[in-house]
Amino acid sequence: MQLKFLTGDACPVCGDVTVVSEWVATETLRDETRVLQHVNGGMWEYRKFACGQALEYIPNYSDTRPLERYRCQRDPELLARRERMQRVKVMMEEMLAGVPILVDSDRQSVLEAIRSIRMP
Ligand SMILES: [Zn+2]
Repeated sequence: MQLKFLTGDACPVCGDVTVVSEWVATETLRDETRVLQHVNGGMWEYRKFACGQALEYIPNYSDTRPLERYRCQRDPELLARRERMQRVKVMMEEMLAGVPILVDSDRQSVLEAIRSIRMP
């Protein structure tokens, strides 16, 4: 797909240049799909890189910005946050092991809750 407005050929966080997908915003009305077009002629355009980061062109502002819900998986801030969460999960499990008043079934359900915490 040839994007007309979006600028940015690399991830702004890690510099990855491997593009995995590009798309434009569309809408479907009565089984007819068409490309959304702003009154200024621009379109909402998107480019996603292999690292997970995506960019979006927003015609309202005539500007390309990182798309929040697609995050660079090499982002040092994200990696540090995951590491902190992992440490907290380990500490919680260790604390749980030292609580004598829990019966095993309660201990197991708390352990499962700790392990089910989703990483960012
Ligand atoms: Zn990246």
